[in-house]
Amino acid sequence: MSEYICDNCGNAEFIDETINKVFNIKNKLILVENISVLLCTHCQEPILTMDTTERIRLLLNSDIKPIKHIATEVYEFA
Ligand SMILES: [Zn+2]
Repeated sequence: MSEYICDNCGNAEFIDETINKVFNIKNKLILVENISVLLCTHCQEPILTMDTTERIRLLLNSDIKPIKHIATEVYEFA
């Protein structure tokens, strides 16, 4: 049994998955690829464990250089 509960639906079953996620750090958008997450088997909500969240925080506060830069398209919905 998992120690995690899905914030979205309350389910407690997850599979291991990797995702790409955009973080907004001081009004700068930063993409982190291949983050290990627990993916809710019910609603597909990705859960970042506290350990993973801390590792990302340390990574983004480190002197490690990004592996690449990308240009992206932005749309306004309404
Ligand atoms: Zn869920």
